[in-house]
Amino acid sequence: MTLRLDIERWREHLRVVADATPGLVPVIKGNGYGFGHQRLAAEASRLQAEVVAVGVPAEVALVREQFDGAVVILQAWRPGDELADELAADDRVITTVSRISDLKALAATGSRSRVLIEVLTAMRRHGIPAEDLAEAIGELGDLRFEGWTIHLPLLQEGQYAEAERLSRAALAARPGTLWLSHLPADEAIGLSRQLGGPGDPAPIRLRVGTRLWLGDESSRITTATVLDVHPVRRGTRVGYRQRAAPFDGWVVIMAGGTSHGIGMEAPTPAASLRQRAISAATGTLEAAGLALSPYTIGGKKRWFCEPPHMQASMIYLPKSQQPPQVGEEIPVELRLTTALVDRIDEV
Ligand SMILES: *Cc1c(COP(=O)(O)O)cnc(C)c1O
Repeated sequence: MTLRLDIERWREHLRVVADATPGLVPVIKGNGYGFGHQRLAAEASRLQAEVVAVGVPAEVALVREQFDGAVVILQAWRPGDELADELAADDRVITTVSRISDLKALAATGSRSRVLIEVLTAMRRHGIPAEDLAEAIGELGDLRFEGWTIHLPLLQEGQYAEAERLSRAALAARPGTLWLSHLPADEAIGLSRQLGGPGDPAPIRLRVGTRLWLGDESSRITTATVLDVHPVRRGTRVGYRQRAAPFDGWVVIMAGGTSHGIGMEAPTPAASLRQRAISAATGTLEAAGLALSPYTIGGKKRWFCEPPHMQASMIYLPKSQQPPQVGEEIPVELRLTTALVDRIDEV
């Protein structure tokens, strides 16, 4: 599995997003958005970002080699995590705290950790409710307050209003930088103006991951190598599960399997369930228990013979379609937030 990256084009996109985003905090976490932590950390350095965000404590070391600014850990600190404690004592790490009891516990260690306090949003994931923020500030002790973090849901509707309401509550408890996610840059700029005085916008930082790293689809293409091709007749038994081939044609063995994230998409919301019901009603191959693969041959996505294996996948091709050659590269659609490629080729 190969990701071909038009590096110039990608960097131009990164630059455009960075220039348009006030206080950009590149988010580098998970699978490194398909690129890996090191590469993204190096790009964050090129963009002269002052600070990046990682998901969990173990990721700090992964970005450090290529980035020497400050690193925010997005996952909220909890007692009993040795690595998180160690990092909380590091001057270039900013720790997120999302419960008053945790603020007390961290402050009680005598630590001078740099902390962000998380505000509970409509996400209902982590955070301190707006009405308790003043109490939280009272528990800071020697901790160094770096600002408020507000993680909004993805829905556009009503988002600005919520961001404004929570920001006001937070700034009333204590002035500080607002660290926001998933708010469009223009709205964030508007918010900052509205919350600050005239000519004195409230300081904000915007955390951006997907839109930054993956926002420009035209700068990349993902391909997979054809590993083998076998002719089959309708009814021929195929694969680990020995299912019967649905038509005369070919079985094509493609590079890429579950270890690359093939067939491992995150669960999709209800809309596609409806689609599934429709295809069942119309008697497609999907209704016969086959699933559409992300591999495109002859301009069409092709059906899996069976669930993908660790490093390879088996797909059907009808007789009418000229089979590809072993060694050929075939386009494959990968969701790069869950995929792992073998190589990144810069073109
Ligand atoms: C992961 C994460 C982000 C980045 O999310 P994208 O959708 O990839 O931009 C921003 N803020 C927080 C708190 C996150 O956990």
